[in-house]
Amino acid sequence: MLNIVLFGPPGAGKGTQSLNLIEKYGLVHLSTGDIFRANIKGGTELGVLAKSYMDKGALVPDEVTIAMLESEVLKHEDPKGFIFDGFPRTTAQAEALSAFLSKHNTSITCMLALEVPEDELRDRLRLRAETSGRVDDADPKIIQNRIDTYNRETAPVADFYRGQDKYIGINGVGSIEDISERLFEAIDQTA
Ligand code: ADP
Repeated sequence: MLNIVLFGPPGAGKGTQSLNLIEKYGLVHLSTGDIFRANIKGGTELGVLAKSYMDKGALVPDEVTIAMLESEVLKHEDPKGFIFDGFPRTTAQAEALSAFLSKHNTSITCMLALEVPEDELRDRLRLRAETSGRVDDADPKIIQNRIDTYNRETAPVADFYRGQDKYIGINGVGSIEDISERLFEAIDQTA
């Protein structure tokens, strides 16, 4: 299986690039942010809980997120592999994912980390707010909270994969197509 963690700060382009990757490699795309937003839309209990954290730019608690992600993975029979987008976002999530995959005789192939300067991220999120309708994109204070949360809780996840020699940094500035090419090249070198 080809199991990729697509990593990067809010606004790095994980969602956009995931679409190109699933098309090329036939992978299942699991975005925890998208799954939470679908639950909010559907008015589920999980959605109500997730919304209370997401609207502030904070993380949804690990236990809830991990259980949800695992049940999503198990919905797919005989997949070629997964793109994990927005997960793992804490070291505890990374450890849980690793244990879960190894129970199913598979593992993470690599982490592809989109690297984008903070100023550029703020500009992109502000622009996205005009079309996304996302509460967490609309307010500069909430955007800053997400960037701070990323730096504090999520950035350390990169070290988890560095320690396993699975970290691959990708320049996330440029055209969508150029960045896709960089990702394809990195994947083709590991697979
Ligand atoms: P972005 O990467 O642009 O911040 P996402 O759609 O990935 O957007 O996530 C939006 C929000 O959903 C996060 O700010 C967080 O509140 C919640 N969320 C998404 N993934 C996770 C996760 N793995 N753990 C905890 N919370 C998460």
